Amino acid sequence: MNTDIHILILDDDPDDTLIIRDTLLETADREYVISVAHKPADAFSYIEQNSYDVVLCDYRLGATNGIDFIKDIRAKNVQVPVILMTGVSDKSVDEEGLRVGASDFLNKSDLSSALLDKAIRYAIANAARQNLLSTVLSNVESAVCVLDEDGRPQLWNSKFQDVSSGQKDARHNDSNVDAFVENTLNSTGVLKVSGRVFEKNISDLDDGRSVVTLHDVSSHIEALREREIAENKSAHLAKHCPLTGVANRLGFNEKIRQEIDSGQRFQLLNLDLNKFKEVNDVFGHETGDELLCKVTARMKKCCEDGDYLTRIGGDEFVVLQRLEDGEEKSTRLAECFQAAIERDFVVGKRKLRIGVSIGISSFPDQGRTAEVLLSNADIAMYRAKANAESCIQFFDTDLDNAIRQRRTMIADLTEAIENKDIDVHFQPLADVNTQKILGFEALARWTHPETGPVRPDIFIELAEENGLIESIGNIVMTKACENAAAWPYPVKVAINVSGVQIRHTDILNDVQSALFHTGLPANRLELEVTESVLLDDFDFALHVLRGLKNLGLSLAMDDFGTGYSSLSSLISFPFDKLKIDRSFVTDLDRQQRLKNVVTTCIGLGKNLNMRMVAEGVERQAHIDFLVEHGCQEMQGFLIGRPMSNADVHDYLMRGEGYALMDTPKPSVAVAR
Ligand code: C2E
Ligand code: CA
Ligand code: CA
Repeated sequence: MNTDIHILILDDDPDDTLIIRDTLLETADREYVISVAHKPADAFSYIEQNSYDVVLCDYRLGATNGIDFIKDIRAKNVQVPVILMTGVSDKSVDEEGLRVGASDFLNKSDLSSALLDKAIRYAIANAARQNLLSTVLSNVESAVCVLDEDGRPQLWNSKFQDVSSGQKDARHNDSNVDAFVENTLNSTGVLKVSGRVFEKNISDLDDGRSVVTLHDVSSHIEALREREIAENKSAHLAKHCPLTGVANRLGFNEKIRQEIDSGQRFQLLNLDLNKFKEVNDVFGHETGDELLCKVTARMKKCCEDGDYLTRIGGDEFVVLQRLEDGEEKSTRLAECFQAAIERDFVVGKRKLRIGVSIGISSFPDQGRTAEVLLSNADIAMYRAKANAESCIQFFDTDLDNAIRQRRTMIADLTEAIENKDIDVHFQPLADVNTQKILGFEALARWTHPETGPVRPDIFIELAEENGLIESIGNIVMTKACENAAAWPYPVKVAINVSGVQIRHTDILNDVQSALFHTGLPANRLELEVTESVLLDDFDFALHVLRGLKNLGLSLAMDDFGTGYSSLSSLISFPFDKLKIDRSFVTDLDRQQRLKNVVTTCIGLGKNLNMRMVAEGVERQAHIDFLVEHGCQEMQGFLIGRPMSNADVHDYLMRGEGYALMDTPKPSVAVAR
C-alpha cells in the first residue's frame, strides 16, 4: 500500500514556502511528496495534471487570496482538501474559509511539524468521509440539495443537478441549480420538471440550513393512473349493459340519485317495447339481441345532451330527461322514440315491426324517490299499453292511483291464493215446479285482511287478467268437490269455470284429479261456462267441452243472453243447461220486454232440449212467471243466498231443501 502523501503548497512568498516544506519534512515517519506553486494559476494546472491528497494554501496571494482560490477550484468541481494558512489570527477569515470549502486553517506563525501532520491527516480523513458521503448522495434515489441559511444551494447531488438542468437546458452548472432553487422550490404542491413529477420535501436543520429532497413519483403516479383507468373501466362495465352499451339499472340508480340530490326538475320516460317477446320467441335470442341494439341506436339519435338513456330490463328502457321548459319537451322526445321504434327494422334479412308504450312521470311533483318515480312512470306506461289511441301517457295521480290500488290488490290476492285463503260459498238451485233443492252453485269468496270482503266479479276479473284464475279455479274446485262429497244428500254442485281456464290450462286433468281425490261422482258435478269461451277458438273450446262431458259431468252455459253466441254455436256445443242471466229475470215482472226475452229463451231451451235455469229469482212473481212458462230450474235470493258449507248442512238437514224428499215444500224457501 502506497503511503506517500502528495502535497501541493501554494504560497506567493518563497521563504514561507521553504519554512513550510522544512517543517513538513521534520516529520520523520511520513513520506511526503511535495510540490510548490507560487501563483494560483500554476497551482490549478498542477492540480489538473496530478492528483494531490491535500493543498496547503496561503491566505494572502498577492492580488488575490486563498478564499478566492478555493471558490475557483470548487466551482470547477475540484474536491481536493485545502488547508488555509493565515498570517494572523482572524476569525472571520477562518470562518469564510470553512464556508467556501476549506478543510482546516492554520496560523503560519506557530506552525509545528506535529500540528501540520495532524491537520493533514485530519483533512485527508475528512475528505475521504466527504467522498463517501457524496458517493452515497449521488446514489440515493432522490435529488438532494442542502441550502444555506439564506436559502442558497450549498451542496447537492448529481440527481439534483440533473433535475435542475432539466428545468431549462441540459447544461450542468451552478447557475442552473441557483435558478432552479429560486424559481421552483418555492412553489407549492408537486413539482413538474420535463414531464416528470417530483414530490418535494424540505427539512430544516438546527443550524438554519435546510435539506431539500425531491422524490421522483412519476412512475408511481403512472401506476396510480393505470389503476384508476382499470377501476373506472370495471366500474363502467358494472354500470352498463354489455349488449347495447347504454347504462343499466345500476347506472340508472346512481344517476337518478344524483339528479334527485341536485333538486333539479326532470322527467322519467319509461319505455316498454311491444311485441318484442314474440320476436325473441319466434326468431330466437340472437335476432332479439340485434333488434335491441338497433332500437337503442335509434333511441340515442332522439336524445339530446343531458338525456340519460338506460336499459333497465329485457325490453324496458328508461330515459331521464332534464326539464327546463315544461312537458312539451318530454312529449317531443317520446314522439321521437315512438316514430323511431315503430319504423320497420331489418335484422338479418327479416323485416320486423314492433311498437312501444311510454309512461312519463316527473320529479318532484310525482314522486321524490327513485322507487316512486319509476313505479309511477311504469303505471303510466301500462295505461299507455291499454290505450288504443296514444301510446304515450303522462302519469296522472287520480287515474293512476286506481291502478296502484289494483296492483296492491293483485299482490294481496296472490298471497291469499298461496295461503289458500279463498273460501267457497254455496247458493242453492231449486226445481221450479217442486221447489226441491237440486244442487248448489259454488261461489268464490275472498276477504281482504284490511278492507274486508271483495266482490267476486272484481277479484275474479283481476285473477283472469293476471294469470291467477287457474289457481283460484283449482282451489274452488277442490274445496267444492270435497264439501259436496260430504253433504248429507247427493245433490249436485255447480262450479264456475273461466274461459281462461278452458283456453290456457289443462282443465280436463284438473277436473279429473279433483273428482278422483274427493271421491265425488262425476254425475254430481256441473261446470258453468260463459258463452265467451266459444268466441276465441271455437274448435279448441268444442274439443275441451266434449272431453269434459265425456267425464260424465254436465255443462251449463252461464249468463245466457249477455254475450254474442249464435244459434249455430249453441247447437254445436254439448250444453245440458242454459242459465238465463239474472239481469233479464230480476226486473221481468216490471218490464214486458224482459218477459218476452225470458219467454223466448225458455222456448229456445225446450226446442234445443236443454234445461233452462233462471238466475236472480227474488220475488214470488218471478216463480209464478217461471212456472207458467215452463222453466225447469231457478236460483236466487228468494230460494237461498250464497251460504257457508256449514250452513249448507243445516239447510239440507232442516228440510228446507227438499231435493230428495217427497215431503210438501214450504211455499218459499227461506231467504237469508
Ligand atoms: P254468476 O256465476 O252469475 O254467479 C251468480 C251471482 O249472482 C253470484 O254473485 C250470486 O251471489 C248472485 N246472485 C244469486 N242470486 C241472486 C239474486 O237473486 N239477486 C242478485 N242480485 N244476485 C244474485 P257473486 O257470488 O257475487 O259472483 C259473481 C260472479 O263471480 C259470478 O257470477 C261468477 O261469474 C263469478 N264467480 C264467482 N265464483 C267463481 C269461481 O269460483 N270461478 C269463476 N270462474 N267465477 C266465479
Ligand atoms: Ca255461475
Ligand atoms: Ca250467472
